Amino acid sequence: MRANYHTHTWRCNHAVGSEEDYVIHAIEQGFDILGFSDHTPQFFRDGYRSGIRMDPEELPNYCKVIRELRDRYRKEIQIHVGLEVEYYPAVFSDLISAARDQGVEYLLLGQHFLGYEQNQAYTGAPTGDEEILRQYCEQSMEAMQTGAFTYFAHPDLICFKGDDEIYRKHMRRLCQEAKSCGLPLEMNMLGCWSGRNYPDMRFWNLAAEEGCQAILGWDVHAPDQICKPEAEKTLRMAAKQLGMELLDTVAFREI
Ligand SMILES: [Zn+2]
Ligand SMILES: [Zn+2]
Repeated sequence: MRANYHTHTWRCNHAVGSEEDYVIHAIEQGFDILGFSDHTPQFFRDGYRSGIRMDPEELPNYCKVIRELRDRYRKEIQIHVGLEVEYYPAVFSDLISAARDQGVEYLLLGQHFLGYEQNQAYTGAPTGDEEILRQYCEQSMEAMQTGAFTYFAHPDLICFKGDDEIYRKHMRRLCQEAKSCGLPLEMNMLGCWSGRNYPDMRFWNLAAEEGCQAILGWDVHAPDQICKPEAEKTLRMAAKQLGMELLDTVAFREI
């Protein structure tokens, strides 16, 4: 089975193309399963609106459009509706109830910001601050413990430029938590082909040492990004050399 569970839509304001184009490209590339996991709405209490995610009122239409595609393309590909979610404890229960109401099937953890997002730098911004690294690990570990997430997208998004020993000390704990929660870790295809700070081999060495499971996630923000054979080869080879188990599919955790 060939699966990608990490797919965005135009609603996040930084992805392009129609939902159907993503489906057509996935079929052309031989995928059996395509999961949409657009950047989740967050139910901020003070009227804050983020420019990189759908608004709460867009969630019903997002789910409806994907379910229509699921039915239309049933014979060619399995389509699922999910969300890529930052864990913000203060508003997490609101998100869970909205996701249940709308029949969202799975959540990916993607911790792009810390705290409650507002006044926080993007997690992938370079930093030498151990406190930011520590907070990233703490918040992600708390998220894993909720049991709501199906896998952890780009767990190595944090761009720590300080001492490697400090990096390993904190990130090893994150890997150990993923292992004990049975949560697969995503090797991110977008980061690989676009030359971002992730996949970070410092992290994947730790993940392999701790016996974590990995899965590839294309993280597509445009329909043709599902076709990246060189990056796919690179990451499959890396997993093999590390002796990591690379999953083809995942079972969804109940939300
Ligand atoms: Zn995005
Ligand atoms: Zn993503």
